Amino acid sequence: MPTEVLIVDDDPLVGGLSYEILTEAGYRAKLVRDSNLVVGLLREETPKLVLLDILMPGLDGLTLLHMIKSDELLKATRVAVVSGKTFSAEIDRAMQYGAEAFIKKPYDATTLMKKVGDLIGPPANPPGAAPTEAPAPSQGAAAVKVRIWGNSAADDSPVLSVEVMDRLFIFDAGKGIVPCGTAMLQEARFKEAWWLITHFHPDHVGGMGLNPLLRQEGFSLRIGGPREPGSTLANELREAVKRSYSADPRPVKAALKLHELREDSYEIIPHVRLTPFYANHPGTTLGYMLDAAGRRIVFCPDAELYGSEATAHQDYDEKIGRLIRGADLLIHDARWSDADHESRKDQGHSSVSGTAGFAADNEVKRLVLWHADASYGEEQLAAHEAAAAALFDERGADIPVHAARDGFTLEF
Ligand SMILES: [Zn+2]
Repeated sequence: MPTEVLIVDDDPLVGGLSYEILTEAGYRAKLVRDSNLVVGLLREETPKLVLLDILMPGLDGLTLLHMIKSDELLKATRVAVVSGKTFSAEIDRAMQYGAEAFIKKPYDATTLMKKVGDLIGPPANPPGAAPTEAPAPSQGAAAVKVRIWGNSAADDSPVLSVEVMDRLFIFDAGKGIVPCGTAMLQEARFKEAWWLITHFHPDHVGGMGLNPLLRQEGFSLRIGGPREPGSTLANELREAVKRSYSADPRPVKAALKLHELREDSYEIIPHVRLTPFYANHPGTTLGYMLDAAGRRIVFCPDAELYGSEATAHQDYDEKIGRLIRGADLLIHDARWSDADHESRKDQGHSSVSGTAGFAADNEVKRLVLWHADASYGEEQLAAHEAAAAALFDERGADIPVHAARDGFTLEF
């Protein structure tokens, strides 16, 4: 199937968002971030429409537009220019160079879909039509199984496993990795997994060297994580493994592949998209958004949301909100009760109401409150759930909410 829309944007968040909106609507879209590659791609793929960002490093959007519109073979391609610069002179210039439309940034899904529909009509394969390639979950069957391994402790945080499209994804490497890996070997459904690390604070990698999957001959593990400035992922992993390895000194027999990840959007397996984003937390910390089988799961265990107190320069909530909007499941840092967060601002962790408000603002479908402070007991966890549920009630949002607990399982 040929590409219908080529998105050219150097900003992975904006580009990734357009990509998601269009593919969800059924368009075959492709995202390129390097404007120098566009002309070559256009010759190969002949898309109907190019969504073109104006301000890009390298070849800028207007120059590219001019190249497309003065090329005999390419000039029939429709071009919509996308820009945050909305001076009328800027719009006129794009139109003079031959753009068919101008879309103002930031835009929402409705605006984008309307413009794209006006320019090229509906997608060749609208959703609901028989899928041509992507396997769709069968009616009624759960597409995703999410499990939590371990509890929050002073020096440990839980591990998350996500099974979707016959693939296994494991997030973080607290000591919960031991029961998680053991169960996965017993259940014997997988021969490979992605193991995604958010950051290298000790509570998140304390079980790094203990993963039973590391010892499994014939198992292949792709380990992804951020790169700290001045270090490498390999280095950080080696150090983390060393610190915990002595408790289980059996040799590593699994095949390992390392992937340094940054804020970007990767199709890591056909029809499975991973979008890491930088989380508001000390050190280089990633959150992960996973899109597969029509489900969007967001895991962001350590991050501070600014909430209503954000200053004009603190656009973090807005930026991540735009990215994860409508997620089927948001698993997010909610370490502190609202009262306890008051004296712990700017330490990189969120409050229960901050996280619940963020979930409601961005219309997520389910919420898991992660990383409750180790000083809280079961009674407080239940109180946090009740506080979040009350906030949703008040806002008329129907969002089931759970505090993260060892053994918790969710299928949807
Ligand atoms: Zn941390």
